[in-house]
Amino acid sequence: MKKRNIAILGATGSIGTQALDVVRTFPELLEVSVLTAASNAELLIKQALEFKPRAVVILQDEGYPKVKDALEGSGILVLSGGTALEEVVQYEEIDVVLNAIVGSAGLRPTVKAIQSGKDIALANKETLVVAGQLIMDLVQQHQVAMLPVDSEHSAIFQCLAGEGENPIEKIYLTASGGPFRGKDRAFLTHVTKQQALKHPNWVMGAKITIDSASLMNKGLEVIEAKWLFGLEPDQIDVIVHPQSIVHSMVQFKDGSMKAQMGLPDMKLPIQHALTYPCRQENSFERFNFLNYPSLTFEPADTHTFRNLDLAYRALNDGGDRPCVLNAANEIAVSAFLEEKISFLAMSELIEATMCQLKLVETPTLDDLLAIDQESRIVARDLMNKM
Ligand code: NAD
Ligand code: MG
Repeated sequence: MKKRNIAILGATGSIGTQALDVVRTFPELLEVSVLTAASNAELLIKQALEFKPRAVVILQDEGYPKVKDALEGSGILVLSGGTALEEVVQYEEIDVVLNAIVGSAGLRPTVKAIQSGKDIALANKETLVVAGQLIMDLVQQHQVAMLPVDSEHSAIFQCLAGEGENPIEKIYLTASGGPFRGKDRAFLTHVTKQQALKHPNWVMGAKITIDSASLMNKGLEVIEAKWLFGLEPDQIDVIVHPQSIVHSMVQFKDGSMKAQMGLPDMKLPIQHALTYPCRQENSFERFNFLNYPSLTFEPADTHTFRNLDLAYRALNDGGDRPCVLNAANEIAVSAFLEEKISFLAMSELIEATMCQLKLVETPTLDDLLAIDQESRIVARDLMNKM
């Protein structure tokens, strides 16, 4: 494999820091050109001094002087602000842009990166939830690779290797069930943010951890899978698998099923995306069947966890619905994390926002960016009346 230059957007987050672990594992194969962060200046400075990228971006202006001072004389360019993200992904030498930003803020940089011919390693599932059709059209038009980092989608992608045009009957996205698996709505009425932030198998950023507890993460992943693999909603099933060893499965039209398995460790799907199509030897911990004598599966409880149903509804209704769903969810999750609304109120707020806004069937990218903003205003307004 030839050495690749990568840009890591959201370098200070859970995926970003694990991606840098992967880079440390393969210094001869991966080189960092760009690192970006929203606000964590200290960590960004540390990363910059270690990986010596061409440029770093600190989104929030407050952090800029600190990063600028610390990197004075290093030869590393320091930028700030949202448009800088769109600039740096276009650098000539970059081969792959790993988008590990959280939320729909990741959409514009993905678009710019594709338009400048970069392959995308996508952790930022919200990009495909908000604008799946437009993004996949751009991928086609610019002939770039869209490499999934989300573990379920990486699993499906790996199961499809060598299958050419063989028709898929169904895919099964596995879900751990989160910290509240098996609980009922009465229990969920009073759960706290501390309880919701305790994921049984994965350590992740706060937003996706709450999404995992509410099953919205799986809903977003159903939508992500539709676009990545060109499937109809009824070809995508969710199955709860508490051990998080089977990362997802594909069933082909002949009934045969393939699964991809491994320990729950995001470094593996990140490595797969960054070194695709080569499999490079590493010393990450190995999965051993004898440590997991029982792998179990059960249906998802969409009566208790309504967000998964809301996501299917948005997908079936199409147009701008997934964009509205995502924006309302981002507001709901922040409000829950700020202890302004209850766990169950998140679904109510998302549903109410979707009801309030009229369906736009074939939105453009600019429409979606405006609808994202409008949905946030509507959701905040509804929240204040709750
Ligand atoms: P995180 O909160 O730990 O990190 C987010 C990163 O994005 C940080 O570097 C932060 O500085 C940056 N950021 C935040 N807001 C931003 C904004 N408005 N503009 C630009 N940058 C911003 O999140 P994470 O858990 O690493 O998740 C990142 C993405 O990857 C999410 O879309 C998530 O759904 C997806 N993902 C994460 C995991 C996981 O294990 N953490 C697994 C699968 C998919
Ligand atoms: Mg996932």
